[in-house]
Amino acid sequence: MGNTYYEQKSLWGRTLESVNKEEQKRVKIILEFIPSGVESVLDVGCGDGLVTNILNERYNKVVGLDSSSEALSHVKSESILASCYLIPFNDNSFDLVLCNNVLEHLPFGVYERTLENLSRVSKKYVLISVPFNEDLWKRQIKCDRCQTVFHIYNHIKSFKHKDLESLSVNLKLTKFINCGIKETQYSELLDSLAKAFGRWETYEKAICPACGKNDIPLRKSRIGKCFFKLNRFFNFVCNRFQKRYYQVVCLYEKL
Ligand SMILES: [Zn+2]
Repeated sequence: MGNTYYEQKSLWGRTLESVNKEEQKRVKIILEFIPSGVESVLDVGCGDGLVTNILNERYNKVVGLDSSSEALSHVKSESILASCYLIPFNDNSFDLVLCNNVLEHLPFGVYERTLENLSRVSKKYVLISVPFNEDLWKRQIKCDRCQTVFHIYNHIKSFKHKDLESLSVNLKLTKFINCGIKETQYSELLDSLAKAFGRWETYEKAICPACGKNDIPLRKSRIGKCFFKLNRFFNFVCNRFQKRYYQVVCLYEKL
């Protein structure tokens, strides 16, 4: 996955007021999860500082770290251009290390090194937010140039409760809450049929990780569209009351 995706201007510049209500609530939960006594925070993969900029007004020392210079241009606290798996700080440098919507993007190897780094630079706590038990297949898009199939937000990892409990041998899960938008369940069969007939997900900011193509058009397959719509109807009828939260916030104590 190149950095091209994260250098898109249109991804960044969010504020608490500009995001949807569910996202506002999730940010508030992140803030509430920070234990008293914390004075220094490192926000790893801080993006445009949606959370960092609020933290900056509340805590003595706040640093935002991200690998996108475009994202960092919106961060008002001290910031550093770096990778989450090579955090350029000494051991135990921050009371709390936040890692918000990052881990689900990381490939094997990078993921493990990032977790090591998060607990290494933390003195006491690591606070993590990721999508919860995400069905990665549901949000796949197909590149019309090289036919690569990928997740619209580049998510490659899904976390169940047991994954979050055993995230790292150095970290003990102490608090856990589901939040974010609510999603309906859906029929995997209808979804696969829709995709088999060319109706993949669509997202205007998606960039193919293999060939770098953007502006991937929604293919106009009539049968695919029918299965897609049928699936929506199925969701509506069968699962109206079985919505579940898309995300989770977890607080860990360093052992
Ligand atoms: Zn491609």
